[in-house]
Amino acid sequence: MSLEFRDERTPCSSRFQDVYFSASSGIDESRYVYLEGSGFAHHLPSPGSSTIVAEIGFGTGLNFLLTLSEWRRKSVPGSRLIYISFEKHPVIKSDLERLFSSYPELKEESSELLSRYPILVPGVHPLRFPGGVELHLALGEAGELIRKLDFKADFWYWDGFSPKQNPDAFSEDLFHSVALNSKSGARGATFTSAGWVRRGLEGAGFSLEKRKGFGKKRECVSGVLSSPPSPAPESDPWFSRETLRILEPGSRIAILGAGLSGSAIARALSERGFEVSVFDPNGAGTRTSGNPLGLFNVQLSKVPNPVSRFAQLSLACLLREIEALRIPNHRGILRTDLHDADALRANEYPEDFFIPGSEGTEFPLCGVLSPPELCLERLNHPGIRLHLLGIRAVERSPRGWVLRFDSGEASEPFDHVIHALGAETKIPSSRNFESRLHELLPIRPIRGQILLVRPDARSREVSSTLVEEGYATPSLPALTDGGHHLIGATYQAKEVAADQEILDQQSLIEHARKWGPFQDLSLEKVEGVRVGYRASTPDKLPLIGPLTDPAFLENNYRSALRGARGIPLPALEASPGEWVFSGMGSRGITYSSLGAEILASLMAGTPIPLESDLLPHLHPSRFFIRNLRKPGLK
Ligand code: SAM
Repeated sequence: MSLEFRDERTPCSSRFQDVYFSASSGIDESRYVYLEGSGFAHHLPSPGSSTIVAEIGFGTGLNFLLTLSEWRRKSVPGSRLIYISFEKHPVIKSDLERLFSSYPELKEESSELLSRYPILVPGVHPLRFPGGVELHLALGEAGELIRKLDFKADFWYWDGFSPKQNPDAFSEDLFHSVALNSKSGARGATFTSAGWVRRGLEGAGFSLEKRKGFGKKRECVSGVLSSPPSPAPESDPWFSRETLRILEPGSRIAILGAGLSGSAIARALSERGFEVSVFDPNGAGTRTSGNPLGLFNVQLSKVPNPVSRFAQLSLACLLREIEALRIPNHRGILRTDLHDADALRANEYPEDFFIPGSEGTEFPLCGVLSPPELCLERLNHPGIRLHLLGIRAVERSPRGWVLRFDSGEASEPFDHVIHALGAETKIPSSRNFESRLHELLPIRPIRGQILLVRPDARSREVSSTLVEEGYATPSLPALTDGGHHLIGATYQAKEVAADQEILDQQSLIEHARKWGPFQDLSLEKVEGVRVGYRASTPDKLPLIGPLTDPAFLENNYRSALRGARGIPLPALEASPGEWVFSGMGSRGITYSSLGAEILASLMAGTPIPLESDLLPHLHPSRFFIRNLRKPGLK
């Protein structure tokens, strides 16, 4: 949404006929009403603790910026702030830039926010700030989204414009969800003391106190929730978080694989203050993650589905990550097979997502980068140690997970082990799943071949990556030695012919020659060939989460999953700290970034930046659970 300005410094909204904050005293007023009114200003975090602040109405982010600055004055080592803010009509970035340029007192925090501000697709955007701070910007109707997010706030800011103009942001239903998403003793504050708003908060269980209003305003309100309502029992105990072993300060963590997924989770954990050891005999970004260029891309569907929703949020997350890590990249993908982009418009994708044109549809935010460079840069953090060692087995001992190296030697025990081996995932653990691994994690290796070809005068003119079934990148001397075009990629699930490599070269060339600038392409211009194996799953979504023993799932939940009622369902077995992050198919670059944020949050026991209806679509046990539901299977 575009901001309107009453003068350069007063942002307002004609939709709600109200100001976001007042120019003369907005900062002092926000601090008084929200930070002091909720008690956050007097909160002292303890080492290793997580403080959760939640807000209805992110608006310009002023409350967030003030909270961030206050937090930095008092945070202690290992303490974390997670700020979850709901916003239905997000302000566009250029308006925020304009606004904050007139607030030099907020310069430091506002530039940090602006450099991370997401592309405005609906859903939750996790934004990481230095010093253990995460902002989960939840874009959508607060009343709907809040029910899909699993968190318990310590502090609440209720700041949804004037209740008269905007009753939805103060409804009884919303306050009921607020109470469910609050810790016992949670405190909140709002600028309004309207009678029906107070009754709504009291009805949800908050005890209220009127405070003197800011400046000339008469009153504002603070509240405390002594006893939150009990949540409804979990409907899917097989995916529960309750019994997961979570990370503690000093937990020893082993990550198997230094490709796109291994490097992403290593970085996400180390940025949260954990030290990790990454094992890969070939080093960072090799094998399938080792192509000189790879695409970051997004699938849009006419009707949003879990794949398209996860893909858009993943792209938004990756763009933030490559900006922060300064990964060189080349933007612009032209889908030459997509000519009916109008059908996509109904979904209200952000304006800059795609541009229909005579040659197809351009995606200006998508593009190409070097996966090895991304992996290397992710691992470039003082909390990460990369070991060039192959793992033959992972053994469970009373002291933790022991890695048996190819040399036969054994590691010190680890508290947590993360399998991030892509198509080579074998889970060589002593948990006896190996014989059932394919049932649990149906990862199919899909062969993909790419070509590096010498550019010519015509092909050098190509400026966007051309995509149909395959793709052809521009010649990018800044990103690849020799400025080769990368032409890809084949897709074979089955056994391949003896002369597959040459057959694939021919078919890739034939496909690319359909694009005018590549008409003169020939075998003679091929200067490199690479083959990799993607880790593909049947539903094209990754596997992110804990590993659960299939025998436990089968013995305890089969009857319930087949519709038998009245059976008491046992809690999930206690997780021994074994995790998987794999199955990203051809979308490893795009998915690894958000995937790592989700896994790191699961492991750290902090709120997950993803709606709960999407989470089961990523759970590693989902295929096994679906199969248990099917009648006729043993
Ligand atoms: N806290 C903000 C700040 O620091 O700038 C000011 C918030 S402004 C007064 C109210 C915000 O609430 C607007 O950005 C508006 O779009 C948002 N909003 C209103 N109703 C909403 C709803 N039902 N769900 C989510 N956001 C809502």
